[in-house]
Amino acid sequence: MPELPEVENTRRNLIRFGLPGCTITGSNITWANTVKKPSALELAEGLKNRTIQDVQRKGKYLMFPLSGASPAVFIIHLGMTGRLLVQHKCQESDPLTRHFFPLDDGREIRFQDGRKFGKLWLVDSPDEVLPEMSPEPFEDGFTVETLAESFSGKKAPVKALLLEQSIACGLGNLYADESLFLAGIHPEKPGSELSISEVAQLHLSIKDALSAAYGVYDRAREKDWPNPPTAMMTWSHPRDIKASCPNCGTKMTTIRVRARGTYFCSKCQV
Ligand SMILES: [Zn+2]
Repeated sequence: MPELPEVENTRRNLIRFGLPGCTITGSNITWANTVKKPSALELAEGLKNRTIQDVQRKGKYLMFPLSGASPAVFIIHLGMTGRLLVQHKCQESDPLTRHFFPLDDGREIRFQDGRKFGKLWLVDSPDEVLPEMSPEPFEDGFTVETLAESFSGKKAPVKALLLEQSIACGLGNLYADESLFLAGIHPEKPGSELSISEVAQLHLSIKDALSAAYGVYDRAREKDWPNPPTAMMTWSHPRDIKASCPNCGTKMTTIRVRARGTYFCSKCQV
């Protein structure tokens, strides 16, 4: 499932493809249920001859402000398996491509979506679509104080708390594990038992985990262009109980926290 680094990588890929400035000349929607608002027909009609002005992201929503008046913004959520590419019309498309948006330069935006959990909207304002979201880890609102506040008095395991999107928007299963691994904190430690220095370390580790992931994608994008990868292993803890902790050599441990597969080092994370 795409997490924040995958969606941000997609955004950077689309910018690198030169999408801003391109005009959408049509739409081929092969699975109408993906379109959440307005109808598939209205979305296709509304996108025609509109120029993409930018590629923005809020949480896991990709937003494309359009030229002209209403509706002003095209919004895409990749869902569980979604992938966006910009390819020339002549290039063979992946069989799991569900939607095609031809551009005025002979290329088209292709939305691959194996499990069809992706979503599309064409609306006047992102407020019509986006839920209330907490600050992202790189936004000013995400501080040691706000993180400490979110853990205060909570008996729930720190990992479960991290997965609540009210704490750090976009942090998913993999990067919650990676952040706790980097911070040396046991995933089942109750939120209320974290010291302020542990919270400060975790705050730093969340940002480090995401920056490292962005860096892996940035380097791979340059190396593999024009076929940038969209799913990579960008974390340092092995998600395998046969593998050893890179810091101390202890075999990794797996447990379930709120039904989510969790990997940690029983020696380094206390
Ligand atoms: Zn270890």
